[in-house]
Order: sequence, then C-alpha cells, then structure tokens
Amino acid sequence: MNETKTYEELLEELEDLSFQLKEANETIHAIRTGQIDALVVETEEGPQLYTLKSADHTYRVFIEKMKEGAVTLNSKGIILYCNSQFADMIDVPLAKVIGLPIMGFIPDQYKSRFKKITEQGWEFDSKGEISLKSKNGELTPFLLSVTSLELDEGIALSIILTDLTSQKDNERQLQLKNQQLEEARLAAYKMNEELEDIVEERTKDLLVSREYFKFLADNIPVIIWTADVDGKLDYVNRRWVEFTGFDIEESKTKQGELIHKDDLEKNVAGWQKALKEKRKYEGEFRLKRTTDGTYRWHYSQAIPFKDEHGNITAWIGTNIDIDDQKKELEKKDEFIGVASHELKTPLTSLKGYIQLMEFQENLSEAAKIYVSKATSSVNKLQHLIDELLDASKIKAGKLKFNKEELNLTDLVSLCIENSGYIYPLHQIKKELQNDIIVCGNAERLEQVLMNLINNAVKYSPNKKEFIIRAEKDKELATVSVIDFGIGMVNSDQDLVFERFYRANGSDSTMPGLGMGLYISSEIIKEHNGQIHVKSKLNEGSVFSFSLPLATKVESTSM
Ligand code: ADP
Repeated sequence: MNETKTYEELLEELEDLSFQLKEANETIHAIRTGQIDALVVETEEGPQLYTLKSADHTYRVFIEKMKEGAVTLNSKGIILYCNSQFADMIDVPLAKVIGLPIMGFIPDQYKSRFKKITEQGWEFDSKGEISLKSKNGELTPFLLSVTSLELDEGIALSIILTDLTSQKDNERQLQLKNQQLEEARLAAYKMNEELEDIVEERTKDLLVSREYFKFLADNIPVIIWTADVDGKLDYVNRRWVEFTGFDIEESKTKQGELIHKDDLEKNVAGWQKALKEKRKYEGEFRLKRTTDGTYRWHYSQAIPFKDEHGNITAWIGTNIDIDDQKKELEKKDEFIGVASHELKTPLTSLKGYIQLMEFQENLSEAAKIYVSKATSSVNKLQHLIDELLDASKIKAGKLKFNKEELNLTDLVSLCIENSGYIYPLHQIKKELQNDIIVCGNAERLEQVLMNLINNAVKYSPNKKEFIIRAEKDKELATVSVIDFGIGMVNSDQDLVFERFYRANGSDSTMPGLGMGLYISSEIIKEHNGQIHVKSKLNEGSVFSFSLPLATKVESTSM
C-alpha cells in the first residue's frame, strides 16, 4: 500500500532530490573537468568509492573533447564514468547515465553481443560492433574498443565507442562502386570478346580479299603496278614479272632499260609532268619482252591515289599490250596512204575532164546542171582524199611546209570572203584586229580556218550566223570561230582533236571522217601554237587557235 505523503513531506522530498541532482551534476562536472579523482557509487552492496589511479586533469579534458564516446564500467557493468559524447549517442542526459548499469542502454538485439565483447575485454583488449538507439530512434552503428583499466579499488573496464555511420556509408559507397566497377569490367570483357570476334572475322575477310586481290592482280591480262608518291615502283603484278623478267626489286632500278630508247625521253617527261602536276599520266611506249627480247607497244596509264586531304599517297598504274592493235592501225594507215595516193591521179584527170566539159559550147541546160553537180561531188571527193593523204603524211612524218611572215588578218579576211561564196545564205560577223603578223604557212593556216568554218556551218543546221574573231595580245595571235549550233558535251571536247573521233555519238546525218580537226591540230602544233574548243551542248562552240606573233622567219618540216 502506498503511504500518502503530505504536501510538506513531498516538498521536503523534492528539495532533497533537487539537492541530490545538483550534487550529482557538480560531481559529474568535477570529474569531467578533472577536479576530483574519486567517485562514490551506490551499489547493491552499499555505496562504493572509486578513484582513478592515474586520474589526470589533462586526460579527462582530452576525453571530453574527443569525438568518440568514452565509458568506464565496474565489474558489475555499472557506469563509473562517461563523457558527454556517450550521453549524446544514447540520447540520455549525462546526469542520468553515471552510476547506472550500461545494459539498460543497449538495445535488446545487441545485448548478448555486447556482453560477449565486454567479457572478453576483461581478459584482453577486444573490439566489436553493435548499434545503439540514437535521438530519432534509429539504430546507429558503433565500434567498441574495450580494454581493462586499473583503478585503486580494482579493475574497471574502459569502452571507447566510435561512430561507424560515415565509415559504413563509405563502405556502402565503396561496395556500390566496386559493384559498378565489376559491372563495367564485365561489360568491357564482353565488348573485348565481341571485338576480338570482329577482328578475327575482319582478318579472315581481309585475308580472303587479299588473296582475291592477289589472284585478280596476278591473273588479269594487264600489267599492274603501284608507285609511291615520288613515283618509285613499289608493287608489280605477276604479269609484269613474266613479261619483263624483273621482280619488284630489279624493276626499281632497271625499269629504264625496259623501255625502247626512242620512247624513253617522251615518256619520262610525261611521267615527270604528271608527278609534278599531280595529274593522271598517259603514254605509249615499247616494252622489252624477256622471253624473246622483242619490244611490244604498251598503253600506260597511272592515276594518283589521294587521301582525304587531297594529298597523293600512291600511284596506281596499268600497262596494256596494244602491239597487235598498233600493227593493225599501221597497216590501215599504210593502206589509206597508198589508196589515197592512188586515187589522187584518176581524180585529177576526172576533174580535168569535167572542167573541159564545162567549157564545151552548145551544152544543153540539163548537161550544164549535170556538169555542175559532178564538179561539186568531185570537189567533195578531192577534199576527202586530201584529208586522208594529209593524215597519212602526218603519221609518216612526211607533211612538209615552209613558213614565212604573213598577215593573219588578211588571211582571215580572205577566208571569210571565200566562205561568202561557198555559203551565200550565211552571215559571218567579222571582228578582226588589224595587222596581226605571224610566221606560218598561208596555205596550211587557210586549210585550218576553212575546216573550222566548214564545221561551224555543218554543225549549226538551224543557225545561219556565226562570228570570226582575230585578235592579238603581247605574244599571241588568236583566231576564233564562234557558232551557235549543236555544240558538244565536255567529254567530247577532250577528244575531238584525235584521229577519226566524231563527237555526239557520231551523228550519222552529218557527213565526215573525223580527220579535219586532227589535221588542223597537227598543223597548229607545227606552228608552235595551240588549238582548243569550248562548247556547250545545244548552245554552240568556240574553236580557237593561237600562234606566237612573228619575231623571225622560220622554216620547218613534218
Ligand atoms: P568531221 O567533221 O569530218 O567529222 P572533224 O575532225 O572536223 O571531223 O570534227 C570532229 C568531230 O568534232 C565532228 O565529227 C563533230 O562531232 C565535232 N565538231 C567539230 N566541229 C564542231 C562544231 N563546230 N560544233 C559541234 N561539233 C563539232
């Protein structure tokens, strides 16, 4: 039964308790600040006095300042001393901690572990982890470092508590990072394996394509070679080795011995020009065949291979054996030469007889018309035969002419006048500078100009006007024939000066042999001049030739 206390008794008791509390607080403060070295603790056996053997002011201040919790227990597990950090850790005011059994502050689930750690601590230094309930009721992990401590009254147990929260966090982070690292390592391993598979596959592909390239390069009926950026051979295919008898190493130094000496200079110059200008090389030369020592004509081409910046990294070339075709062509040329020469004599007499007929009196009107038609056909035939003869003479290097100083303006005027008779329905606009003096062969230059005029008329079926211009600058005289006819595409423009070449798919409605421009260009070349064309399909063409202005009289043959 509870005995009921009077108000006075309660008041007295309260005062007593307040006094005890004050005393306890003072005692704690005194211990913490090192003012006292001993402590009286109420135990079951009655009050007991504890003194710290090496009680030292400095250490106690130090313990109070450290971040770790510090607790001293007696053999019964009663808290003899603790710092304020420990009180904070368990969220109990400091005054209510000292003198109480520590087990009261250990969460149930950690009690046995705590017991084990402290029991060991009496024997030897021990460590272990437990969690304590902190302010918000959450469990906070701590590391306990337990060691026995000698006091005057006997041995006490000292416990240092280190908050493991951030360490655990770090561990967790580390674990996470390790896990991510492991994942990344696995991914990298997988990628590496895939890469190895790809490389293996590609290597196989490469080997197959290399073998295939080798097979192709060695068996193609054409010589293939590559050269470095400076033009030095660095690869030749089997066909080259079989033909020349030189492997790549020998070819590097002896290449020059293989080309016919008459073709060497021209081709070396062409090759050096291509290297210098970084442009495609093209040439024809005779190459020595090792098996029988004969020379065979080859058509050679080399294309510069460029990197993404446009710099040449290599040259890739082919040599095609054109000896058989060349011989065929020579035979054809020979035949054309002989045939045109043989045709010339009967044609001259045919022309003579027609002229005689023309002068006959009492010719009927019908006969006059027949004679005039025969004259025009014979003239066309003569033109064709002259062209064929000229072409074969050029090939044989037998077209000869003298050059002398002449007035190109007068020559152009004369041609325009003649054209007026031949093409009475056409209007020719003259744009001529006076007194352009060049050194040349009047007959051959007239032939060139008349060829350009005839072409302007022939290839402008729906236009009746064209322009002829003669002009000069400090060094050159230039004559241009400008028409507004069918024109031609770019690719044709590079080729129209070649023998037998006809542009626009050789339109059969326009008669011709494709020789006029070839002869013209050879004539102009022999005058140290140049001939060129600028043309646009369906808009017209400008054919021009330029000659050096006369300085002195020269004579040459071709
Ligand atoms: P031909 O006229 O006898 O065929 P040419 O050597 O004079 O031979 O000309 C070669 C080719 O160039 C012609 O077939 C023609 O296709 C083209 N050509 C020449 N002149 C012109 C021109 N003024 N306009 C368009 N094409 C031309």
